Amino acid sequence: MINSIYLENSIREHPKARSILSRFPKANVLPCEHYKEVFNPAGQNFRLQKKNPALILAKQTGKLLHSIPPSYGVGGSRNFYFSHLLNCLYDCRYCFLQGMYPSAHFVHFINSEDFMSVIKQTTEESEEPSWFFSGYDCDSLALESITGFAGEFLPFFSKLPNAWLELRTKSANLQVLENQTPFDNVVIAFSFTPEEIGKQTEWKVPPLDSRIRAMKKAASMGWKVGWRIDPVIDSTDFKKRYEELFDSLLCNLPIQQLHSVSLGAFRMPSGFFKKMEKTYPSEPLFAGKLEKRAGMMAYEKNLEKDRLTTCENLLLQRIPKELLFSCKSPVV
Ligand code: SF4
Repeated sequence: MINSIYLENSIREHPKARSILSRFPKANVLPCEHYKEVFNPAGQNFRLQKKNPALILAKQTGKLLHSIPPSYGVGGSRNFYFSHLLNCLYDCRYCFLQGMYPSAHFVHFINSEDFMSVIKQTTEESEEPSWFFSGYDCDSLALESITGFAGEFLPFFSKLPNAWLELRTKSANLQVLENQTPFDNVVIAFSFTPEEIGKQTEWKVPPLDSRIRAMKKAASMGWKVGWRIDPVIDSTDFKKRYEELFDSLLCNLPIQQLHSVSLGAFRMPSGFFKKMEKTYPSEPLFAGKLEKRAGMMAYEKNLEKDRLTTCENLLLQRIPKELLFSCKSPVV
């Protein structure tokens, strides 16, 4: 799967880099001074790279923790995201990463020790619980077999009870959760869209039924589970499709294992959207009833309101209202 690995010179001897390299003996290893030399140049072909991305092993020397966008949280007051990985194994047409990054290569930051140190320090700065979201610039678990991210960070968070970790994923491979005793301050947050919409927009993503089975299994092991219905995608038979999805989710999960549900409208900085349209000019999703508002592309205002309200009502007929976090679009 990985044919080329770029390796920053400064981490050539890092045990984690050595361990990852040893698992790809046939890969072409290419030295570089800094990952941005490979990742950042303009004019790269995202679509072509996505077919066969290289792995870039790097050390994150910049900012390690970032504030989350207002629409991303699930009730905490101190919210941060961090990225052990840039880009994703999967290929969702609505994913903002393809508009944000110039390259589809995977950048894996191997200096977990630095992330852990800043997470610990940030947690200790307040008695308020701190939330750390790991699936903002990637899927938290899809590349676990390469990064070993959750395998390292779950034991770390298990000893940090005032810090919450959200693993946000569309993966159905939860082997890493079987190797760890469940604990309270972590949420395995599964992102879902109705089956037909997923088939048309979520390339390389495991089928809905296998992700629902994975969710059920995670809950039966004792993990808290979240549903992330974000972005909400318009379609024909909208209400019926989302109703079916919510019913399937609910009948596969005891409600006491459900930590939170978040709901968010499709929205995208217009610069990212332009780039995505150029990459996939015949993508039907981009020809929907969208408009530009305050520098963002989103569904037309009334349509957006209707679709979010429909989902909100369907959910509130099924789950307690304190579990629902409706990420209203910040777009005016
Ligand atoms: S799973 Fe998430 S991060 Fe990965 S391509 Fe889809 S939307 Fe993007």
